[in-house]
Amino acid sequence: MADSYSMCKIIYHPGYCKYDLGPGHPFDPRRVEMVLDLLKEYGYLKEPIKPDIVQPNDLLSIHDQTYINVVEAASRGEKILNIEDYGLGTIDNPVSLGMAVGARYQAGGTLLGARLLIEKKAEKVLQLGGGFHHARRRMAEGFCIYNDVALAIKEMTNAGWHVAYLDMDVHHGDGVQEIFYDAENVMTISIHESGEYLFPGTGWLNELGKGMGRSLKLNLPLEPFTEGESYIEVLDGILPKALSWFKPDAIVVQAGADAHFSDPLADLLLTTQDFEKYFRRIIRLTDEYCRGKALFTLGGGYSLTAAPRIWTILYMVLLNIDIPAELPLSWKERWEKKIGKQLPDFLHDVYPAFDPVQRKEEISRNNRELVHRLLDAVIADWL
Ligand SMILES: [Zn+2]
Repeated sequence: MADSYSMCKIIYHPGYCKYDLGPGHPFDPRRVEMVLDLLKEYGYLKEPIKPDIVQPNDLLSIHDQTYINVVEAASRGEKILNIEDYGLGTIDNPVSLGMAVGARYQAGGTLLGARLLIEKKAEKVLQLGGGFHHARRRMAEGFCIYNDVALAIKEMTNAGWHVAYLDMDVHHGDGVQEIFYDAENVMTISIHESGEYLFPGTGWLNELGKGMGRSLKLNLPLEPFTEGESYIEVLDGILPKALSWFKPDAIVVQAGADAHFSDPLADLLLTTQDFEKYFRRIIRLTDEYCRGKALFTLGGGYSLTAAPRIWTILYMVLLNIDIPAELPLSWKERWEKKIGKQLPDFLHDVYPAFDPVQRKEEISRNNRELVHRLLDAVIADWL
């Protein structure tokens, strides 16, 4: 009998590479090329399903018509007055030719993932792209233009589903939260470094949703320098309770890799081992509380030496492949030349991965306190 792992479908399109915000921009398309090349080198790459590009009108369930027109015109090289009002032409979201095409291919991939689950053609889906969780209805933000995750969630709710959204990216999933802030059929859970220290500065405990969506928007703003043990303790304190109460029809996971200790844009201290442990936990919880259905996307993750390894591990966990110890030498040499950085010898981090952290106990205690305060705030509504 086929188990749930064998039902995992992989989605990718070469058109994703058109989402290139220019040389030196952290959102580097090579991160995913490195994953595909590594899987090929190991002999584990199965042919991904290629999504169709979404058409601009397909984005209207999430984005405003004027905003879509501006993005498409700017992407064709047309000059737009006051483009900054739409969050474009900034350092984070510079205008680049073809960016809308890349964004629509990526949105098409995440949307296809939702459809495969709805049509029972897959139990688990890994979309090797997407995760543009900062994009708002009428504004680009934080490297994100079109909110593919919101589009996929909307497709599921249109099919009558209740959806849980877990945002593992180190930055708060503000765009997705805002779009579904009053939705009673979408629970969002974002675990991130506190907005006191990190973009976008939101994602506080008291952002709980409004109206029928009250107590369904959960935020866990962690202390900087939080290690994996505390991160996992926090998620374990919330996720099983939240999912067992909400009983979603599926979970959408934004599996950003920027909570890794080597990420240049943030300060959490997860190792690849922590990511593996948590990917396995999510799959177990999906099977227990979410009818076995999960759609994983990628997201942030700006360490070229870490993000490709983390997403390769995610692929292997989802496809039930034993994690190999070493990185293939030929892959390592090829990519060291291309990215100009030394890559490690092993797929997993080697201990000790970083220097001991001062205040470790205090950080864990404060994070634990977050869980208690969040549960205190929502538990009356959950009963
Ligand atoms: Zn991020």
